[in-house]
Amino acid sequence: MDHPHLAANWSDVRRRVDEACRAAGRDPAEVDILPVSKTFGPELIRAGVALGMRRFGENKVQEIRDKSAPLADCGIDWVMIGHLQTNKAKDVARLASEVQSLDRLDLAEALDRRLQHEGRGIDVLVQVKTSIEPSKYGLPPEQLADFLNALRGYHGLRVRGLMTLAIHSVDADEVRACFRLLRELRDRSMLQGHDIPRLSMGMSGDFGLAIAEGATEVRIGTAIFGQRSYPDSHYWPEAGA
Ligand SMILES: *Cc1c(COP(=O)(O)O)cnc(C)c1O
Repeated sequence: MDHPHLAANWSDVRRRVDEACRAAGRDPAEVDILPVSKTFGPELIRAGVALGMRRFGENKVQEIRDKSAPLADCGIDWVMIGHLQTNKAKDVARLASEVQSLDRLDLAEALDRRLQHEGRGIDVLVQVKTSIEPSKYGLPPEQLADFLNALRGYHGLRVRGLMTLAIHSVDADEVRACFRLLRELRDRSMLQGHDIPRLSMGMSGDFGLAIAEGATEVRIGTAIFGQRSYPDSHYWPEAGA
């Protein structure tokens, strides 16, 4: 089946990311795009693979489970970006190549145990709460230093960087402050000896600001795959209506 809009969206997003890089004086090769395929089925994802996409971000373990079987021939790297319950660690350790939503020690512990069992290691990003919104998941910034030190004890987890969701606001300064905070936390952690260069920040509506603040990776759903038929509150239950 043909997905002409997908090819057009994909080239449009890549062009806009390149433009944002140039506007920020950055090399476009420094910024990856992580296509976020949540709610979309295997057929559309397969069309994305044909266009050169290889990593896909998903918000729910169940969706990775459902999609990875029919797409087993595609060589996809599944990236977990949503809130993760500790009792789902087993499936994640089996199916995901990376977790960007690591935000607490009991999850690190459970994931590491399952990974040891599978005999594998995965890349992880620590999700930090950078906004004052009461609802967003993520580690409070003041706990980051201790958390990173504690993660050194888990050998199945290769800590590569930080991830955040910015505040949902029409005020660009507020959004940008979230991204800036994540970059500053990254820089400080690097000085403390943690090799965590990656910054996963920015989505369809705010990736330009994230790139200006140093994103090394933007997570793009809607602008690539189109509007989702579920509201975001379905994925971020804490976000309310
Ligand atoms: C859905 C989602 C995205 C992508 O959002 P869009 O606005 O559709 O680009 C990025 N990050 C996370 C954690 C998400 O859940």
